[in-house]
Formats: sequence, C-alpha cells, structure tokens
Amino acid sequence: MQIPSDAFDLPFFREHGFVRKLCPHCGEHYWTQDETSETCGDAPCIDYDFIGDPPTNKQYTNSEMREKFLSYFERNNHSRVAPYPVVARWRDDLMFTIASIIDFQPYVTEGILPPPANPLVVSQPCLRFEDIDLVGITAGRHLTIFEMGGHHAFNYKDGEQVYWKDKTVEYHHGLALEIGVPSESVKYKEGVWAGGGNAGFCLEPTVGGLEISTLVFMQYRVVNGEWIQMPINIVDTGYGIERWTWLSQGSCSGFHAIYGPVLDKTLEWAGMNLDESLLSELAKYSYLIDLNNQEEERRNIAKKVGIEYEQLIDTLYPVEGIYGAIDHTKAMAFILSEGIVPSNVKEGYLTRMLFRRGYRLLRRAGIEDRMPDLVKLQINFWGDDFPQLRKMEDEILEMVDVEDRKYRDTLSRGKSMVQRHVKKNKKVSMDQLVEFYESHGLTPEDVQDAAKEIGTALKVPGDFYTLMSRKHMGEGKEKKIVEKEGADLAKRLEELPSTRRMFYENPYDKEMNAKVIEVIEGTKVILDQTVFYAEGGGQISDQGVLIVGDAEYRVKDVHSIEGVIIHNVDRPGIKKDDKVHGVIEWDRRISLMRAHTSTHIIIGAARRVLGEHAWQAGASKTVERARLDISHYARITREEVEEIEHLANMVVRERRPVTCKFMQRDKAEKKYGLRLYQGGAVPGKEIRIVDMGDWDVEACGGTHLANTSEIGFIKIVDTERVQDGVERLVFASGPHALDEVQRREALLMEAADLMGAPYESIVESVQNNLDAIKELRTQLDSLQKTLSSELAETLVDKAMKVNGLKVVFHRDEVDFEFLIELGNAMEEKESNIVAFIMSTSQRRFGIKAGKGAMEKGIHAGELTTKLGELMGGSGGGAPYFGQGGGGDPEKFMGAKHEILEAIKGQLQ
Ligand SMILES: [Zn+2]
Ligand SMILES: [Zn+2]
Repeated sequence: MQIPSDAFDLPFFREHGFVRKLCPHCGEHYWTQDETSETCGDAPCIDYDFIGDPPTNKQYTNSEMREKFLSYFERNNHSRVAPYPVVARWRDDLMFTIASIIDFQPYVTEGILPPPANPLVVSQPCLRFEDIDLVGITAGRHLTIFEMGGHHAFNYKDGEQVYWKDKTVEYHHGLALEIGVPSESVKYKEGVWAGGGNAGFCLEPTVGGLEISTLVFMQYRVVNGEWIQMPINIVDTGYGIERWTWLSQGSCSGFHAIYGPVLDKTLEWAGMNLDESLLSELAKYSYLIDLNNQEEERRNIAKKVGIEYEQLIDTLYPVEGIYGAIDHTKAMAFILSEGIVPSNVKEGYLTRMLFRRGYRLLRRAGIEDRMPDLVKLQINFWGDDFPQLRKMEDEILEMVDVEDRKYRDTLSRGKSMVQRHVKKNKKVSMDQLVEFYESHGLTPEDVQDAAKEIGTALKVPGDFYTLMSRKHMGEGKEKKIVEKEGADLAKRLEELPSTRRMFYENPYDKEMNAKVIEVIEGTKVILDQTVFYAEGGGQISDQGVLIVGDAEYRVKDVHSIEGVIIHNVDRPGIKKDDKVHGVIEWDRRISLMRAHTSTHIIIGAARRVLGEHAWQAGASKTVERARLDISHYARITREEVEEIEHLANMVVRERRPVTCKFMQRDKAEKKYGLRLYQGGAVPGKEIRIVDMGDWDVEACGGTHLANTSEIGFIKIVDTERVQDGVERLVFASGPHALDEVQRREALLMEAADLMGAPYESIVESVQNNLDAIKELRTQLDSLQKTLSSELAETLVDKAMKVNGLKVVFHRDEVDFEFLIELGNAMEEKESNIVAFIMSTSQRRFGIKAGKGAMEKGIHAGELTTKLGELMGGSGGGAPYFGQGGGGDPEKFMGAKHEILEAIKGQLQ
C-alpha cells in the first residue's frame, strides 16, 4: 500500500515548520524541522550519534523514564491503566503479550467491549522471541523483554472522537521536548504498518539514529489483501521505554542504561573490567549487525573503529554473553512469576530456551553457576515496579533451581551421545542440531563443546534460537476444534436461532418438552430448547431419549455449533415441528456434575499445596473418572497427593455454594483476574463464571452442583507424569470414589486371605514372608554350591575323552541357573572341559567351554548354535559360553554324535 503524500500533512507539522523530505538512502519520506536535513535520521541512514552524547537534559533510569512517560500522559488527560501479564492467557492465538494493543484485542478493537478508559496510557512489559539471536550483539537495540509505552485512543464512527494523527504527534513531540531533546533532532519517518489482520499508516520517530517510538494509526481491516475501513480508528502507539532510557544516558550499550547495578554486579562476578570508550565506539555502528551478516559486518566495524577484527571479537564476545544473559534472566523471571513451568511445549518451551541460552551465554565468562543469583538480582531490581516478582520469588527461584539441575543432567548424559555421532559422521547437520536440542535438550553450543573435546571444530548457525522459537511460537495455543460436520452443515445452521440452554438455567432438570426446529440428514435433531448438555469444556455430552408419541429415539451424543445444539439420535423418524419429550440419563449427568465440580475444587487445592504455578493444563471428565493435568516442575509426591485430597474433602464438608452466572468479560477480568482462564481462553463478550468464593473462580461452560457438599467424597486414585512440567491427577467423586476405595480394600482383603493373616497385620505378614523367602534362597544357594561341586567331580571323572578334551553331556530337571553353576564348577576342576547342559523343565540348554578347550579352538557359542539347530530350537553365544532354548528336549542326547563331529571340526 502506497502512503498518500498528504497522509501526514498535519496542522502540527505545518505550524511548527516541519517539511516533508525524501531520504536518499532508504527512499522513504520523513518530516523534519531541519530544512538542510540529508537523511531520515534512522540507522542505517546515519550512525548512532547519541552514544557518549545524549541529547536529553538529564539521564533517566528505566523506572524514571516509565514514570515520566506515564505521568506526562496523565497530565494530558489520559487514564493510567495497569499493565497486563506477559503471558497472554486471555488470547487463544498468542502465547505472550507482544505489544500494548494486545491488552485490548480483539474485544475492544472490534468494538464489542468498551476500553477501560479513553484515552488511556499503559507501560506494558512485552516479550518477543523473533530476534532472540540478536539480543546482546546489537548493543541493546534488540531485547526479548521490553516495556512498550502505549497511549491509545479509540475513535468510534458516529461516536466519540478522542484524537487522531495531529494530536498524537503533538503529544509525542511534547514528551521529547520535555526530557530535553532539541525539537529539530526528532524526525518522523512515514511508514505502513500491518499486523494481526489490521493495518494503517504510521510514523516512526527517530533521534540520533535510534527509532524510539512507533505511532500507528490503525484504520483498516485486511481482508484478502484489501484494506477495508474499520468502524473504529485506533491510535496505537509504542514508545520503547528502554530505548528512551538508553537515549537519555548515551551509554555504551542499552544494557548499561536499563540494568545499571544488575550489570555491574554480573561483571564483578566475572571479574571483567570493560573498556567503555572502545565499547562506545563499537556501539555507534552496532545497528549494522544482522542475523545473516555478522562476521562481515563485524570486520567492517573493526575497520571503521580502527582495530583488528580479533581484538573486536575478544572485546565483545564475553560481554555480549553477559548482555544476553541479563536480558534472558529478566524475561524468565517475569514468565515464571506468572506461573509458567519450564517444559518442552508452548510457553514452557520458550522459558526453557531462555534458561539454556542464558546459561550458555554466561559460560562465556565462566559464571554459569551464577544463573540463579542473577535471577535473584533481577527480582530485587524490578520487584518494586512489578510486585508479582517479589510475591512469587520463592517459586521462581525453586523453578530456576530445578531447571538448573535438569540442564546439568542433560549435559552429563548428552556429551557421549554427541561424541559418538561426531566420530561416526565427522559433522553435525542442522537437522541433527535440531534433534539434539528438541529431543535431548542440548544446545548447539553444548554440541560444539562436546565435539571440540574430541578435536572436531563445529560452526554453529547464528539464527538457531530464532528458528526454534519461530517454530514453537507457531504452535500457538490449542486451536478451536473445527467442527467435524464441515461447511455445509455450518451454513444450514447459520439460519437457525441459538438453542435455549435449559441445563444452564437449572442443571437439575432431567426432562423437558420441546419443539423440533429442524432435522438434518435424518438423525441430527435441533430443538428450540434442551436439557441435554452439549459436549464442551472437557465435559462429555449427555445421553438419553427423545420421545415422539410412542416412539423412543436414543440420543447418542450432543454438540453445539455456534450456539445451535445438535442431538444425534440413533435412527431417522423425527420430523420438523414435532413435539418431543426429552429425558436425560440422570446417573450419567449427576456423575459428570460431581466430577466437574470436583475439578474446580482440586485445582484450588493443588494451587495451595504445590504453589501459584499450578495451573490447569488440561482436564477431562467421564462418568467414573476425571483427570486434571497440572503444570508443575516435579513429580507430585505421595504426601502432596494426600494433602490435596485432604483439602479437597475439606471444601466438600464446608458446604460451599457454587454459583454460575454470565458476566461481561472485562468486568469479570477486573473482579477475578486472569486466573479465570484456568481452562484456557474462552470466547465472547459475556463469559460464564463458576464461583466457589475464595476457593476458586473460573470461566467455565460445564454443569456444576449447587453446593460442594453434594459431591460427598473425593478420592485421588492415581498420579502420572504427562510430560516434563505437566503432572496428572486422576480422581473419582461421590459413589465412584467409594467404589474405588472398596475395590482397593477388597484387594487387600484378598491378599490377607492368601497370607492367612488378619487384614490389619497384612504388611507385617508380607514382610515376614519376604524375609522367609530370602532366608530360603540363601540356604538353597549354599546347598546348590555343595551339590554342584560334588556332581561336577563325578561328571568330570566320567567325561568322554576327545583329542585331549573332556566332553560331558548332562541333562536334568533342575533350574538352568543351577546347571550354569555346575558348568563353572566343572571348569574349575578341568580346564579342557566342554560341557553340554540341559534343563528339561525349563527347555533351556547351554555349552560351557574351559580355558584349555578354548585354546584348542573350541567356540561354545557356535556349538550352541549347532545344538540349537539339531534340537529344533535356537541358541548362540561367546567362545566360553553359549545358551539357547526351545526345540525338543528328547533330541538332546540324540545330538551327541553330530556334536562330537562338530567339536572335532573346531580343533586346530
Ligand atoms: Zn533513510
Ligand atoms: Zn467447570
């Protein structure tokens, strides 16, 4: 889309003597007060000229700059709103908050809900992984975590007009002037912005080569490449708070400006003294570095600064590692504070990536052991501005500690595997690097180290983590299940009204009368109202019958498409406009209601026992059992299970009322927080809130009991590890819980009967029996030793002499283990022994060759193979011993002759 030449012909620009110019370097238009200006003012069209020479009247810390920004807009009639979390739990298409506008998408930006204030200002911590490989090597231009200062105005067509382009530029300019930036230093570059299905024109203000903000005027919806006017014009600005901070300090890196004392302490651990004047010189050209041209541009920068390339690398390599690790540990602390557990999927995957990459970066300076200390520093440094970090400090540090141990385990286990691979293949392909990382947790740097130890130098791709994060960002969240019936059905349903959901009005209704609105394909019945719960939210659908006149139709399953509920019946016959009487299978429904209500109770209990990071990661309810997957970094212990069970049953006994009501989304979020989205993001302006008071409140569409006491009893019957970072609790409720306890008790009673002991003393009885077995085994061993020694002597005496060998054929009913013992005893007495042994009871046979026999050329394994063939079984083994099984035991002795021939054949 071409930018119209008058798109930014604004009164503010005209009144303040701005002119529109064309940058000869990048070919873009920009606005400036400096008539003699020769570039757009954005790198790479100019170098960074604020380094060592900040244009502001004072230096700001990040906190001071944030406060400056927020209070400036407050003074200009904006309402300050609290930032949203960095984990975008309210979105089903995004894992992390990537911009301030995300807080208001899609309900506010689509005009479904009003904004919390208009205009408003927010400083929103954001996370982005697209540039993760550039973090640290661009002196602070790229970060995985940053604050986006956004002032937003929502202008409604035919409604409230707050402000648009002119005022936006005026505000931006005003703030720049207020911190002392000379007016002519701020240039405004024109651009086109598009993202998330929306688009508009934008201005990119720059100072000293640094793009400090983006002023987007969101005006269009992009449909099939076409720009269609939206009903709301949205001012969507993003002020890079960290960049403004860096600009005000003019320091040799953005990290110096943002992280001050955290950086100082880390450098102290590493014993590093930085040559800040050299770093400043290098930073002026750091904008040149990109993913694909690192070496080339670094050589270029070395030349510009007048140092050798090697000196540049030696200077930058360790400090860039520290920059990157400082960024990553902050991002990690924020994510962990919101209850994400490191794992191999989704948000947990990216959290683990931050840890592992951060660890590797610290290793450059030899301080990887400081990882947990660095996270602690971050919590302290940012904790005043973001109290959630302090609140979650213990859990964050615990998770970092666990992750640290897991990574070290991975490293010690993975090294030899990598070395085997390198020895065999002499190189490691990109696919293999991905495999090492995704399946074994080894970073490319770990692979590189392991290869180096065995003398193979590997080059690591510069964009590895970027590729991996892109791949996993794409995972997104679980996509909405596309209805199985396909587009045709969806189209037919579109014309139908939403079905009245009687199961929400009174979940205890078992029967109803209804009218048939439509019948599709003979068996898909749509009614005006129904008591049949449609499958959803991890709860299976109701079953039951629809009765028309004398005919009864079984309802097999029920589901909902866009508010229309479809009853799948077992045969055709029901017709449009029929009157039906419906009855649900109540045992099934009430069991599901118990299970569903128990799920809410158990997640509340798990949170109290395991910590705030225990979020629901999945759930399903069937009639007899329900399961709840919980994010947690360790195996749930027996004691924790008991405690969860104990708390859950306490809530049952407390007779807590459970209320369900529809609430406007923004009001519900405000009242209960985003913990509401325990079961994932839910769509709609209105969401259904299931409230158990201070125990648990969730957005949930299932059917629940009116009071927790109706559950009766909850029993956790099993725990499983679903995957690293996700633990499963399987539980039963009400009569099914009692069934489970009775089943377990019956097993114990049966065991007690078998032991011939009373139930209470079963453990003691089992223990006594185990002790007795152990004692018998010891006696048996010693008997066998004596016996085998005596028998060995007899057998060796009677052995057949064949060319200096002593050959024995022995067949017995005893255990094969005893016969092996016997073979060893024979060898002790006669080194030229070749003993053929067979256990007829176990159908196992073997051949033992003594040392002397082996020296003469006997190979017991090969003879065993031969013996196996002769007997119709199979076998094989080493020169000193072979074993096999199967075949006909009667053929053992019959094979004697041919075996003797084979022995002769082996003798040299
Ligand atoms: Zn330019
Ligand atoms: Zn529920």
